Parts: sequence; C-alpha cells; structure tokens
Amino acid sequence: MAIDLKSQLGALVSLQQLDSEIYALNNEKTAKPQEIKALEEVFESKKRGLAELEKKSLDVQKQRKGKELELVSNAEAVKKLQGQLYSLKTNKEFAAMQQQISDATADGAVIEEQIILSFDESDKIKAQVEAENVKLKEEENKFTEQKKKVDERIKEIDNRLSQLKAQREQIIPQVEKKMLGDYERILQSRQGLAIAVVKDDSCGGCHMHVPPQVINLIKMYDHIITCEMCNRILYIEDEE
Ligand SMILES: [Zn+2]
Repeated sequence: MAIDLKSQLGALVSLQQLDSEIYALNNEKTAKPQEIKALEEVFESKKRGLAELEKKSLDVQKQRKGKELELVSNAEAVKKLQGQLYSLKTNKEFAAMQQQISDATADGAVIEEQIILSFDESDKIKAQVEAENVKLKEEENKFTEQKKKVDERIKEIDNRLSQLKAQREQIIPQVEKKMLGDYERILQSRQGLAIAVVKDDSCGGCHMHVPPQVINLIKMYDHIITCEMCNRILYIEDEE
C-alpha cells in the first residue's frame, strides 16, 4: 500500500466537516434573496395601489373643474334669459321664457349638487391616500430592516466561507490527488456529503444496511469502500 489509507480517510473526514458547513452556508446564501422578495412585493403592490388612488384623485378634481365651468356658463345663461324676460311682448312668450329660466336654474342646482358630491369624494380619497401612505411607510421600513438583516447575514456567511476555504486549503495537500477528485465528484452529486460514517451497521448517508463483510473490508484499509446504494465513501469511527 503506497499511501496510508486510514490517515487519508481521516483527512477526508476533516475535509467533509468543512464542506458540510460550506454546503449549508451556500444553501442559506442562495435562499436569502427569497426572504426579502415577498416583502418587496407587498411594498411594491402598496406603491401601485397608492399611485392608482392618486390618479383617481386627479381625475375627480379634473371632472369637478369641468362641472364648475359648466356651472358658470349655466349662471350666465340664466342671467341672460332673465335680462330678456322684460323685453317680451306677450304673456305666452313671457311664460315660455320663465319656464326656460326655471329649467336652466334646476340644471344649475343639479350641477351644484354634483360639485358638492365631488368634494366629498375628494375628501374620502384624500383620507384613503393618507392611510395608505402610513401603511406604505410601514412596509418600506419592514423591507429595509429585513434587507439590512439579510445583507448582514450574507456578509457573515461570506466571512465564514473564506475562513472555511482557507482551512480547506490546509487539508487538501494531505489527500492524494485521485482520491480528492473522487471525493469532490461525490460531493457534487450527493448533496454535499461525500464520506459517510457507518454506524449501527448502516450508511450514515442513505441509511442503507451495510453487511458485515463490507464492514470488514473497510477495517482492512486496503482500498476505498463505497456504499452500494448511494456511492458515498464509507468509513468507521475508531472504537475509543
Ligand atoms: Zn449509502
């Protein structure tokens, strides 16, 4: 045996400890943006809702301006009709004109009522906008706070990852190149766990039963033994 397999396996176990943490940290880091995405979506939809309300408020104002102009020309029309009233010759013409004035005045009252209702609606929208602004501010604060937490955690993770990678670099020279290649290939394909302990006669990676003759082979440290089920490298912890 050219290499001491037992110490090689020991180095792989140390490497695995680092790689398990690296794997978990990388997963956590990948999942982080999702956490703030949900909050960001609530915040964005509140913002859209508020923009719609503000647009509605402008529409109501614009319509009211139109009504106010209508009311002015209605008042002018009534005044003009009233001015003509006394220049009329016959009772019949007089009565017809009075009817016209009364109709126009009634129209004016309707327009005035519409303007009053429009002011009420504007007040209502204004109150809604204020309430939504408060909620939006709350959502914005929540989002900013959460984003800050996530950014801090990602920074922590990155720091820890560079520590772990430095520790990794120290162990790597202890492992034979071919073995390291196998280990890393299994690491990639088996959710970050390449070397599994055999405990209570089963594989620590997939929990498949490991027969006694395989356990004997592991104990011989003649060559690498892998799990028949999950292909992970198997090892046994020292008794003591
Ligand atoms: Zn297994």
